[in-house]
Amino acid sequence: MLTRRRLLFLPVACVALVLSGVLTLSAQSAETVDLGAIQRIKEEGFDRSKVMDTTWWLTDMYGPRLTNSPQMRAAADWAVKTLNEWGLANVKQEPWGADFGRGWSNERTVLHVVKPEPWPVIAYAKAWTPGTSGPVTADAVLAVMTTDVDLDKFKGKLKGKVVLLQAPREVKLLWDAPATRFSAQQLDDMMAQPMPGAGRGGFNPGAQRAFQAKRNAFLLAEGVAAVLEPGSGMGDSGSVLVAAGGSRDAKDPPVPSQLAVSTEHYNRIARLLEHNVPVTLDVDVRSSFQDKDLGMFNIVAEIPGSDKADEIVMIGAHFDSWQSGTGATDNAAGSAVMMEVMRILKQSGLRMRRTVRLGLWTGEEQGLLGSRAYVKSHFGDPETMQTKPEHAKLAGYFNMDNGTGAYRGVYLQGNEAVAPIFKQWAAAFTNLGMTHLTIRNTGGTDHLSYNAVGLAGFQFIQDDMQYGTRTHHTNMDVYDQIVAADMMKNAVITAAFVYQTANREQQLPRKAMPKPAPRPGTAQ
Ligand SMILES: [Zn+2]
Repeated sequence: MLTRRRLLFLPVACVALVLSGVLTLSAQSAETVDLGAIQRIKEEGFDRSKVMDTTWWLTDMYGPRLTNSPQMRAAADWAVKTLNEWGLANVKQEPWGADFGRGWSNERTVLHVVKPEPWPVIAYAKAWTPGTSGPVTADAVLAVMTTDVDLDKFKGKLKGKVVLLQAPREVKLLWDAPATRFSAQQLDDMMAQPMPGAGRGGFNPGAQRAFQAKRNAFLLAEGVAAVLEPGSGMGDSGSVLVAAGGSRDAKDPPVPSQLAVSTEHYNRIARLLEHNVPVTLDVDVRSSFQDKDLGMFNIVAEIPGSDKADEIVMIGAHFDSWQSGTGATDNAAGSAVMMEVMRILKQSGLRMRRTVRLGLWTGEEQGLLGSRAYVKSHFGDPETMQTKPEHAKLAGYFNMDNGTGAYRGVYLQGNEAVAPIFKQWAAAFTNLGMTHLTIRNTGGTDHLSYNAVGLAGFQFIQDDMQYGTRTHHTNMDVYDQIVAADMMKNAVITAAFVYQTANREQQLPRKAMPKPAPRPGTAQ
Protein backbone atom coordinates (compact mmCIF):
# COMPACT_ATOMS: atom_id res chain seq x y z
CA MET A 1 0.00 0.00 0.00
CA LEU A 2 1.04 3.55 -0.60
CA THR A 3 0.56 5.13 2.79
CA ARG A 4 -0.75 4.12 6.19
CA ARG A 5 -4.36 3.40 5.57
CA ARG A 6 -5.97 3.47 8.92
CA LEU A 7 -5.39 7.20 9.06
CA LEU A 8 -7.18 7.71 5.82
CA PHE A 9 -10.84 7.41 6.64
CA LEU A 10 -12.96 9.92 4.84
CA PRO A 11 -15.42 11.87 6.95
CA VAL A 12 -18.57 10.35 5.52
CA ALA A 13 -21.70 9.47 7.42
CA CYS A 14 -20.50 6.54 9.45
CA VAL A 15 -22.72 3.72 10.50
CA ALA A 16 -21.17 0.46 11.59
CA LEU A 17 -23.49 -2.42 11.15
CA VAL A 18 -22.59 -4.79 13.91
CA LEU A 19 -23.43 -8.30 12.90
CA SER A 20 -25.59 -10.22 15.28
CA GLY A 21 -23.75 -13.47 14.75
CA VAL A 22 -27.00 -15.03 13.65
CA LEU A 23 -28.01 -15.27 10.05
CA THR A 24 -31.22 -13.29 9.80
CA LEU A 25 -33.22 -14.80 7.01
CA SER A 26 -36.01 -12.32 7.54
CA ALA A 27 -33.91 -9.39 6.25
CA GLN A 28 -35.72 -7.38 3.57
CA SER A 29 -33.44 -8.50 0.76
CA ALA A 30 -32.72 -12.08 1.76
CA GLU A 31 -29.57 -13.37 0.13
CA THR A 32 -29.11 -17.01 -0.65
CA VAL A 33 -26.11 -17.99 1.43
CA ASP A 34 -24.82 -21.30 0.12
CA LEU A 35 -23.53 -22.95 3.29
CA GLY A 36 -22.69 -26.15 1.43
CA ALA A 37 -20.35 -24.22 -0.85
CA ILE A 38 -18.83 -22.45 2.15
CA GLN A 39 -18.16 -25.85 3.70
CA ARG A 40 -16.25 -26.95 0.60
CA ILE A 41 -14.35 -23.66 0.47
CA LYS A 42 -13.36 -24.08 4.12
CA GLU A 43 -12.17 -27.64 3.54
CA GLU A 44 -9.99 -26.63 0.61
CA GLY A 45 -8.73 -23.46 2.30
CA PHE A 46 -8.05 -24.92 5.75
CA ASP A 47 -7.19 -28.58 5.16
CA ARG A 48 -5.25 -28.28 1.91
CA SER A 49 -4.02 -24.68 2.04
CA LYS A 50 -1.14 -23.61 -0.18
CA VAL A 51 -1.18 -19.98 0.87
CA MET A 52 2.03 -20.13 2.93
CA ASP A 53 3.81 -22.06 0.20
CA THR A 54 2.83 -19.32 -2.26
CA THR A 55 3.98 -16.68 0.22
CA TRP A 56 7.35 -18.42 0.53
CA TRP A 57 7.94 -18.33 -3.22
CA LEU A 58 7.01 -14.64 -3.41
CA THR A 59 9.28 -13.65 -0.48
CA ASP A 60 12.26 -15.85 0.44
CA MET A 61 12.66 -17.10 -3.10
CA TYR A 62 11.79 -14.17 -5.39
CA GLY A 63 11.42 -11.17 -3.08
CA PRO A 64 11.73 -8.25 -3.01
CA ARG A 65 9.57 -7.38 -6.01
CA LEU A 66 10.30 -3.76 -6.87
CA THR A 67 8.36 -2.97 -10.03
CA ASN A 68 10.37 -3.81 -13.17
CA SER A 69 13.26 -5.29 -11.19
CA PRO A 70 14.67 -8.67 -12.29
CA GLN A 71 13.33 -10.21 -9.05
CA MET A 72 9.80 -8.95 -9.75
CA ARG A 73 9.90 -10.33 -13.27
CA ALA A 74 11.10 -13.71 -11.98
CA ALA A 75 8.32 -13.73 -9.38
CA ALA A 76 5.79 -12.86 -12.08
CA ASP A 77 7.02 -15.73 -14.28
CA TRP A 78 6.68 -18.08 -11.32
CA ALA A 79 3.13 -16.81 -10.64
CA VAL A 80 2.09 -17.40 -14.27
CA LYS A 81 3.56 -20.90 -14.24
CA THR A 82 1.83 -21.71 -10.96
CA LEU A 83 -1.58 -20.31 -11.95
CA ASN A 84 -1.34 -22.40 -15.13
CA GLU A 85 -0.45 -25.50 -13.11
CA TRP A 86 -3.55 -24.89 -11.00
CA GLY A 87 -5.63 -25.13 -14.18
CA LEU A 88 -6.72 -21.51 -14.44
CA ALA A 89 -7.67 -20.06 -17.80
CA ASN A 90 -6.28 -17.10 -19.78
CA VAL A 91 -3.24 -16.74 -17.52
CA LYS A 92 -1.05 -13.96 -18.84
CA GLN A 93 1.17 -10.99 -18.18
CA GLU A 94 -0.96 -8.20 -19.64
CA PRO A 95 1.10 -5.12 -20.57
CA TRP A 96 -0.29 -1.87 -19.19
CA GLY A 97 2.16 0.68 -20.48
CA ALA A 98 5.46 1.10 -22.28
CA ASP A 99 6.82 3.85 -20.09
CA PHE A 100 6.92 2.71 -16.45
CA GLY A 101 10.64 3.35 -16.54
CA ARG A 102 13.88 1.65 -15.61
CA GLY A 103 14.20 -1.36 -13.42
CA TRP A 104 16.59 -1.18 -10.46
CA SER A 105 18.31 -3.72 -8.27
CA ASN A 106 20.91 -3.67 -5.54
CA GLU A 107 23.67 -6.25 -5.61
CA ARG A 108 25.73 -5.25 -2.57
CA THR A 109 25.52 -2.80 0.32
CA VAL A 110 28.31 -2.52 2.86
CA LEU A 111 28.53 0.29 5.36
CA HIS A 112 31.14 -0.15 8.06
CA VAL A 113 32.62 2.33 10.53
CA VAL A 114 36.39 1.92 10.64
CA LYS A 115 37.30 4.83 12.98
CA PRO A 116 37.19 5.65 15.88
CA GLU A 117 36.03 2.09 16.64
CA PRO A 118 35.12 -0.47 13.99
CA TRP A 119 31.48 -1.66 13.78
CA PRO A 120 29.05 -2.71 11.05
CA VAL A 121 26.11 -0.43 10.23
CA ILE A 122 22.62 -1.56 9.20
CA ALA A 123 21.91 0.28 5.95
CA TYR A 124 19.93 -0.13 2.72
CA ALA A 125 20.24 1.53 -0.67
CA LYS A 126 17.34 3.74 -1.71
CA ALA A 127 15.65 2.53 -4.89
CA TRP A 128 16.71 4.00 -8.21
CA THR A 129 19.89 5.49 -6.74
CA PRO A 130 23.35 4.64 -8.12
CA GLY A 131 25.99 2.74 -6.18
CA THR A 132 29.31 4.17 -5.06
CA SER A 133 32.24 4.17 -7.46
CA GLY A 134 33.55 0.91 -6.05
CA PRO A 135 34.58 0.40 -2.41
CA VAL A 136 35.37 3.76 -0.83
CA THR A 137 36.89 4.74 2.52
CA ALA A 138 35.71 8.21 3.43
CA ASP A 139 35.22 10.62 6.31
CA ALA A 140 31.73 11.35 7.50
CA VAL A 141 30.32 14.89 7.70
CA LEU A 142 27.16 15.97 9.46
CA ALA A 143 25.64 18.45 7.01
CA VAL A 144 22.02 19.21 7.79
CA MET A 145 20.69 21.06 4.76
CA THR A 146 17.06 22.11 4.64
CA THR A 147 17.33 25.55 3.00
CA ASP A 148 19.32 27.30 0.28
CA VAL A 149 21.38 29.03 2.98
CA ASP A 150 22.48 25.61 4.25
CA LEU A 151 23.67 24.68 0.77
CA ASP A 152 25.87 27.80 0.67
CA LYS A 153 27.28 26.95 4.09
CA PHE A 154 28.61 23.57 2.96
CA LYS A 155 29.72 24.59 -0.52
CA GLY A 156 33.19 23.23 -1.31
CA LYS A 157 33.37 21.15 1.87
CA LEU A 158 31.81 17.82 0.90
CA LYS A 159 34.05 16.37 -1.81
CA GLY A 160 34.59 12.65 -1.27
CA LYS A 161 32.68 12.68 2.03
CA VAL A 162 29.92 10.48 3.38
CA VAL A 163 27.25 13.06 4.16
CA LEU A 164 24.77 12.68 7.04
CA LEU A 165 21.81 14.81 6.04
CA GLN A 166 19.90 14.98 9.34
CA ALA A 167 20.59 15.63 13.00
CA PRO A 168 20.26 12.64 15.37
CA ARG A 169 16.58 11.81 15.72
CA GLU A 170 14.82 10.68 18.88
CA VAL A 171 14.04 6.99 18.98
CA LYS A 172 10.83 6.12 20.79
CA LEU A 173 10.86 3.05 23.00
CA LEU A 174 8.30 0.39 22.20
CA TRP A 175 6.12 1.04 25.25
CA ASP A 176 3.04 -0.19 23.46
CA ALA A 177 3.04 -3.67 22.03
CA PRO A 178 4.00 -3.29 18.36
CA ALA A 179 1.62 -6.09 17.36
CA THR A 180 -2.10 -5.41 17.70
CA ARG A 181 -5.45 -6.82 16.73
CA PHE A 182 -8.61 -4.73 16.78
CA SER A 183 -10.48 -4.96 20.06
CA ALA A 184 -14.26 -5.20 20.03
CA GLN A 185 -14.29 -1.61 21.29
CA GLN A 186 -12.07 -0.38 18.47
CA LEU A 187 -14.26 -2.08 15.91
CA ASP A 188 -17.35 -0.53 17.51
CA ASP A 189 -15.59 2.85 17.46
CA MET A 190 -15.45 2.70 13.70
CA MET A 191 -19.04 3.97 14.02
CA ALA A 192 -17.74 7.33 15.18
CA GLN A 193 -17.75 10.21 12.74
CA PRO A 194 -14.11 11.17 12.03
CA MET A 195 -13.62 14.87 12.78
CA PRO A 196 -13.29 16.98 9.63
CA GLY A 197 -9.85 18.51 9.37
CA ALA A 198 -8.34 16.03 11.80
CA GLY A 199 -6.16 14.57 9.07
CA ARG A 200 -2.65 15.55 8.23
CA GLY A 201 -2.20 19.08 6.98
CA GLY A 202 0.40 21.69 6.26
CA PHE A 203 2.67 19.33 4.32
CA ASN A 204 3.69 20.57 0.91
CA PRO A 205 5.21 17.65 -0.99
CA GLY A 206 5.81 19.75 -4.11
CA ALA A 207 8.02 22.27 -2.31
CA GLN A 208 9.85 19.52 -0.45
CA ARG A 209 10.53 17.62 -3.65
CA ALA A 210 11.83 20.75 -5.38
CA PHE A 211 14.33 21.39 -2.57
CA GLN A 212 15.42 17.74 -2.54
CA ALA A 213 16.14 17.93 -6.27
CA LYS A 214 18.20 21.07 -5.73
CA ARG A 215 20.07 19.49 -2.82
CA ASN A 216 20.79 16.34 -4.86
CA ALA A 217 22.25 18.45 -7.67
CA PHE A 218 24.39 20.27 -5.08
CA LEU A 219 25.62 17.01 -3.51
CA LEU A 220 26.52 15.61 -6.94
CA ALA A 221 28.36 18.79 -7.90
CA GLU A 222 30.25 18.62 -4.62
CA GLY A 223 31.32 15.05 -5.47
CA VAL A 224 30.14 13.30 -2.27
CA ALA A 225 30.90 9.60 -1.80
CA ALA A 226 27.44 8.76 -0.45
CA VAL A 227 24.54 10.26 1.49
CA LEU A 228 23.07 8.79 4.69
CA GLU A 229 19.68 9.41 6.31
CA PRO A 230 17.98 7.70 9.26
CA GLY A 231 15.46 5.05 8.23
CA SER A 232 12.43 7.09 9.23
CA GLY A 233 10.18 6.55 12.21
CA MET A 234 8.60 3.18 11.39
CA GLY A 235 9.25 1.37 14.64
CA ASP A 236 13.00 1.96 14.78
CA SER A 237 14.63 -0.68 17.02
CA GLY A 238 16.28 -2.16 13.96
CA SER A 239 13.40 -1.56 11.59
CA VAL A 240 14.51 0.63 8.67
CA LEU A 241 12.02 2.27 6.32
CA VAL A 242 13.38 2.64 2.79
CA ALA A 243 11.73 3.80 -0.42
CA ALA A 244 13.07 5.49 -3.55
CA GLY A 245 15.80 8.13 -3.77
CA GLY A 246 16.04 8.52 -7.54
CA SER A 247 13.91 8.51 -10.66
CA ARG A 248 12.74 5.68 -12.91
CA ASP A 249 13.13 8.04 -15.86
CA ALA A 250 16.69 7.98 -17.19
CA LYS A 251 16.16 11.49 -18.58
CA ASP A 252 15.69 12.95 -15.08
CA PRO A 253 18.73 14.51 -13.37
CA PRO A 254 21.08 12.00 -11.70
CA VAL A 255 21.25 11.68 -7.90
CA PRO A 256 24.02 10.65 -5.50
CA SER A 257 24.31 7.24 -3.88
CA GLN A 258 21.85 7.27 -0.93
CA LEU A 259 21.44 4.92 2.00
CA ALA A 260 18.75 4.66 4.67
CA VAL A 261 20.43 3.71 7.94
CA SER A 262 19.03 2.11 11.10
CA THR A 263 18.16 5.18 13.19
CA GLU A 264 20.16 4.06 16.26
CA HIS A 265 23.26 3.42 14.14
CA TYR A 266 22.80 6.69 12.29
CA ASN A 267 22.47 8.55 15.58
CA ARG A 268 25.70 7.04 16.94
CA ILE A 269 27.66 8.29 13.93
CA ALA A 270 25.95 11.69 14.05
CA ARG A 271 26.58 12.12 17.81
CA LEU A 272 30.28 11.26 17.39
CA LEU A 273 30.49 13.99 14.76
CA GLU A 274 28.62 16.41 17.05
CA HIS A 275 31.30 15.68 19.66
CA ASN A 276 33.96 16.51 17.06
CA VAL A 277 35.17 12.91 16.92
CA PRO A 278 36.17 12.12 13.32
CA VAL A 279 34.36 9.12 11.84
CA THR A 280 35.71 7.16 8.89
CA LEU A 281 33.54 4.70 6.98
CA ASP A 282 33.99 1.97 4.42
CA VAL A 283 31.14 2.15 1.98
CA ASP A 284 30.52 -0.10 -1.00
CA VAL A 285 27.20 0.00 -2.80
CA ARG A 286 26.57 -1.77 -6.09
CA SER A 287 23.27 -1.16 -7.81
CA SER A 288 22.19 -1.52 -11.40
CA PHE A 289 19.54 -0.09 -13.66
CA GLN A 290 17.73 -2.19 -16.22
CA ASP A 291 16.98 -0.11 -19.30
CA LYS A 292 16.09 -2.80 -21.80
CA ASP A 293 12.34 -2.98 -21.18
CA LEU A 294 10.67 0.11 -19.72
CA GLY A 295 7.17 -1.35 -20.02
CA MET A 296 5.25 -3.16 -17.31
CA PHE A 297 2.45 -5.68 -17.04
CA ASN A 298 -0.17 -6.95 -14.60
CA ILE A 299 -0.74 -10.67 -14.06
CA VAL A 300 -4.23 -11.86 -14.96
CA ALA A 301 -5.95 -15.26 -14.65
CA GLU A 302 -9.52 -16.50 -14.88
CA ILE A 303 -12.01 -19.18 -13.97
CA PRO A 304 -14.62 -19.07 -16.73
CA GLY A 305 -18.24 -18.76 -15.62
CA SER A 306 -21.26 -20.65 -16.87
CA ASP A 307 -24.53 -18.97 -17.92
CA LYS A 308 -23.30 -15.46 -17.06
CA ALA A 309 -19.72 -16.03 -18.28
CA ASP A 310 -19.57 -12.63 -19.97
CA GLU A 311 -19.94 -10.96 -16.58
CA ILE A 312 -16.95 -10.78 -14.23
CA VAL A 313 -16.13 -10.82 -10.54
CA MET A 314 -12.62 -9.48 -9.96
CA ILE A 315 -10.21 -9.94 -7.10
CA GLY A 316 -6.81 -8.36 -6.83
CA ALA A 317 -3.78 -7.30 -4.88
CA HIS A 318 -0.62 -5.49 -5.78
CA PHE A 319 2.26 -7.78 -6.60
CA ASP A 320 5.08 -5.25 -6.35
CA SER A 321 6.94 -4.22 -3.21
CA TRP A 322 9.67 -1.94 -1.93
CA GLN A 323 13.20 -3.29 -1.80
CA SER A 324 14.71 -3.58 1.67
CA GLY A 325 12.72 -6.54 2.99
CA THR A 326 11.04 -9.11 0.78
CA GLY A 327 7.67 -7.33 0.55
CA ALA A 328 5.93 -9.97 2.68
CA THR A 329 3.13 -8.01 4.34
CA ASP A 330 3.15 -5.41 1.55
CA ASN A 331 2.05 -7.19 -0.44
CA ALA A 332 3.02 -10.83 -0.92
CA ALA A 333 0.30 -11.41 1.68
CA GLY A 334 -2.46 -9.99 -0.52
CA SER A 335 -1.06 -11.60 -3.67
CA ALA A 336 -0.77 -15.03 -2.03
CA VAL A 337 -4.27 -14.83 -0.55
CA MET A 338 -5.82 -13.82 -3.89
CA MET A 339 -3.91 -16.56 -5.75
CA GLU A 340 -5.13 -18.98 -3.08
CA VAL A 341 -8.73 -17.82 -3.61
CA MET A 342 -8.41 -18.79 -7.28
CA ARG A 343 -6.89 -22.14 -6.33
CA ILE A 344 -9.64 -22.87 -3.78
CA LEU A 345 -12.46 -21.96 -6.16
CA LYS A 346 -10.95 -23.97 -9.01
CA GLN A 347 -10.04 -26.97 -6.88
CA SER A 348 -13.41 -27.09 -5.10
CA GLY A 349 -15.13 -27.50 -8.47
CA LEU A 350 -17.96 -25.21 -7.37
CA ARG A 351 -20.12 -23.98 -10.22
CA MET A 352 -19.91 -20.25 -10.72
CA ARG A 353 -22.21 -18.38 -13.07
CA ARG A 354 -19.95 -15.40 -13.64
CA THR A 355 -16.28 -15.48 -14.69
CA VAL A 356 -13.86 -14.87 -11.82
CA ARG A 357 -10.77 -12.90 -12.76
CA LEU A 358 -7.61 -12.29 -10.76
CA GLY A 359 -5.51 -9.15 -11.22
CA LEU A 360 -2.08 -8.92 -9.61
CA TRP A 361 -1.02 -5.33 -10.06
CA THR A 362 2.41 -3.76 -10.47
CA GLY A 363 3.49 -0.15 -9.95
CA GLU A 364 1.14 0.22 -6.97
CA GLU A 365 3.85 1.73 -4.81
CA GLN A 366 4.50 4.34 -7.48
CA GLY A 367 0.84 5.48 -7.52
CA LEU A 368 -1.57 2.58 -8.25
CA LEU A 369 -0.17 2.63 -11.79
CA GLY A 370 -0.97 -0.95 -12.85
CA SER A 371 -4.54 -1.08 -11.58
CA ARG A 372 -5.34 2.40 -12.89
CA ALA A 373 -4.09 1.51 -16.33
CA TYR A 374 -6.03 -1.76 -16.24
CA VAL A 375 -9.26 -0.03 -15.21
CA LYS A 376 -8.76 2.61 -17.87
CA SER A 377 -8.27 0.08 -20.66
CA HIS A 378 -11.03 -2.31 -19.55
CA PHE A 379 -13.68 -0.28 -17.76
CA GLY A 380 -13.45 3.46 -18.10
CA ASP A 381 -11.41 6.63 -17.93
CA PRO A 382 -11.84 8.49 -14.63
CA GLU A 383 -10.74 11.73 -16.24
CA THR A 384 -13.65 11.74 -18.68
CA MET A 385 -15.97 9.07 -17.21
CA GLN A 386 -16.18 7.56 -20.68
CA THR A 387 -16.87 3.89 -20.06
CA LYS A 388 -16.11 0.73 -22.03
CA PRO A 389 -18.56 -2.14 -22.61
CA GLU A 390 -16.89 -4.21 -19.84
CA HIS A 391 -17.93 -1.51 -17.34
CA ALA A 392 -21.47 -2.89 -17.41
CA LYS A 393 -20.18 -6.43 -16.85
CA LEU A 394 -18.20 -6.09 -13.61
CA ALA A 395 -20.22 -7.50 -10.71
CA GLY A 396 -17.71 -6.40 -8.04
CA TYR A 397 -14.04 -6.13 -7.06
CA PHE A 398 -12.32 -7.27 -3.84
CA ASN A 399 -8.80 -6.16 -2.92
CA MET A 400 -6.34 -7.10 -0.17
CA ASP A 401 -3.41 -4.87 0.79
CA ASN A 402 -3.31 -4.25 4.55
CA GLY A 403 -0.74 -6.82 5.61
CA THR A 404 -1.15 -10.28 7.06
CA GLY A 405 -3.89 -9.50 9.61
CA ALA A 406 -7.19 -11.39 9.74
CA TYR A 407 -10.32 -9.93 8.20
CA ARG A 408 -12.63 -8.36 10.79
CA GLY A 409 -15.21 -6.94 8.41
CA VAL A 410 -15.55 -4.85 5.27
CA TYR A 411 -15.07 -1.19 4.43
CA LEU A 412 -18.21 -0.39 2.44
CA GLN A 413 -16.63 2.67 0.79
CA GLY A 414 -19.83 4.63 1.36
CA ASN A 415 -21.87 2.05 -0.58
CA GLU A 416 -25.06 1.90 1.51
CA ALA A 417 -26.90 -0.52 -0.75
CA VAL A 418 -24.31 -3.26 -0.39
CA ALA A 419 -24.53 -3.32 3.43
CA PRO A 420 -27.52 -5.68 3.81
CA ILE A 421 -25.96 -8.09 1.30
CA PHE A 422 -22.52 -8.23 2.94
CA LYS A 423 -24.16 -8.42 6.35
CA GLN A 424 -25.74 -11.74 5.45
CA TRP A 425 -22.63 -13.11 3.75
CA ALA A 426 -20.40 -12.09 6.66
CA ALA A 427 -22.72 -13.70 9.21
CA ALA A 428 -21.38 -17.09 8.12
CA PHE A 429 -17.91 -16.02 9.29
CA THR A 430 -18.51 -14.46 12.70
CA ASN A 431 -16.80 -17.53 14.18
CA LEU A 432 -13.66 -16.49 12.27
CA GLY A 433 -13.75 -12.98 13.74
CA MET A 434 -15.50 -11.31 10.80
CA THR A 435 -17.98 -9.18 12.73
CA HIS A 436 -18.16 -5.57 11.53
CA LEU A 437 -19.18 -3.67 8.45
CA THR A 438 -18.31 -0.02 8.34
CA ILE A 439 -19.62 2.50 5.87
CA ARG A 440 -16.20 4.17 5.99
CA ASN A 441 -13.65 4.28 3.22
CA THR A 442 -10.17 2.93 3.34
CA GLY A 443 -7.67 4.33 0.88
CA GLY A 444 -4.16 4.02 -0.42
CA THR A 445 -4.52 1.03 -2.70
CA ASP A 446 -5.93 -0.50 -5.85
CA HIS A 447 -9.67 -0.73 -5.10
CA LEU A 448 -9.63 3.07 -5.49
CA SER A 449 -8.93 2.60 -9.19
CA TYR A 450 -12.27 0.78 -9.48
CA ASN A 451 -14.20 3.20 -7.28
CA ALA A 452 -12.84 6.07 -9.37
CA VAL A 453 -14.97 4.95 -12.33
CA GLY A 454 -18.05 4.07 -10.28
CA LEU A 455 -17.42 0.33 -9.93
CA ALA A 456 -18.12 -1.55 -6.71
CA GLY A 457 -14.64 -2.09 -5.23
CA PHE A 458 -13.94 -3.11 -1.64
CA GLN A 459 -11.25 -3.90 0.90
CA PHE A 460 -11.71 -5.88 4.09
CA ILE A 461 -10.98 -4.51 7.57
CA GLN A 462 -7.79 -6.26 8.73
CA ASP A 463 -6.03 -6.53 12.07
CA ASP A 464 -2.92 -4.39 11.98
CA MET A 465 -0.55 -6.96 13.52
CA GLN A 466 2.85 -5.19 13.11
CA TYR A 467 2.02 -3.55 9.79
CA GLY A 468 1.80 0.06 10.96
CA THR A 469 4.54 -0.29 13.57
CA ARG A 470 7.26 -2.50 12.12
CA THR A 471 6.83 -3.89 8.61
CA HIS A 472 5.22 -1.41 6.21
CA HIS A 473 7.97 -0.54 3.67
CA THR A 474 10.76 -1.70 6.01
CA ASN A 475 13.65 -4.16 6.00
CA MET A 476 11.62 -6.26 8.46
CA ASP A 477 8.84 -6.89 5.95
CA VAL A 478 9.78 -10.55 5.60
CA TYR A 479 8.21 -14.02 5.57
CA ASP A 480 8.41 -14.41 9.37
CA GLN A 481 5.86 -11.60 9.77
CA ILE A 482 3.18 -13.58 7.97
CA VAL A 483 0.61 -15.34 10.18
CA ALA A 484 -0.57 -18.54 8.53
CA ALA A 485 -3.95 -18.82 10.29
CA ASP A 486 -4.90 -15.27 9.30
CA MET A 487 -3.88 -15.84 5.70
CA MET A 488 -6.02 -19.00 5.51
CA LYS A 489 -9.04 -17.25 7.03
CA ASN A 490 -8.73 -14.36 4.60
CA ALA A 491 -8.51 -16.68 1.60
CA VAL A 492 -11.58 -18.63 2.72
CA ILE A 493 -13.67 -15.51 3.39
CA THR A 494 -12.65 -13.87 0.11
CA ALA A 495 -13.42 -17.08 -1.78
CA ALA A 496 -16.89 -17.20 -0.22
CA PHE A 497 -17.58 -13.54 -1.07
CA VAL A 498 -16.41 -14.14 -4.63
CA TYR A 499 -18.55 -17.27 -4.91
CA GLN A 500 -21.61 -15.41 -3.65
CA THR A 501 -20.95 -12.47 -6.00
CA ALA A 502 -20.46 -14.82 -8.94
CA ASN A 503 -23.75 -16.59 -8.36
CA ARG A 504 -26.25 -13.97 -7.18
CA GLU A 505 -28.87 -12.90 -9.67
CA GLN A 506 -27.84 -9.24 -9.74
CA GLN A 507 -24.41 -7.63 -9.74
CA LEU A 508 -23.40 -5.92 -6.52
CA PRO A 509 -25.02 -2.49 -6.24
CA ARG A 510 -22.87 0.48 -7.18
CA LYS A 511 -22.80 4.05 -5.99
CA ALA A 512 -23.67 6.85 -8.40
CA MET A 513 -21.03 7.53 -11.04
CA PRO A 514 -18.41 9.97 -9.78
CA LYS A 515 -17.75 13.20 -11.61
CA PRO A 516 -14.78 13.24 -13.98
CA ALA A 517 -11.59 13.80 -11.99
CA PRO A 518 -8.18 14.82 -13.30
CA ARG A 519 -6.20 12.54 -10.95
CA PRO A 520 -8.61 10.06 -9.46
CA GLY A 521 -7.97 7.88 -6.48
CA THR A 522 -5.28 10.05 -4.93
CA ALA A 523 -7.48 12.54 -3.10
CA GLN A 524 -7.62 10.30 -0.05
ZN1 LIG B 1 3.14 -0.29 0.21
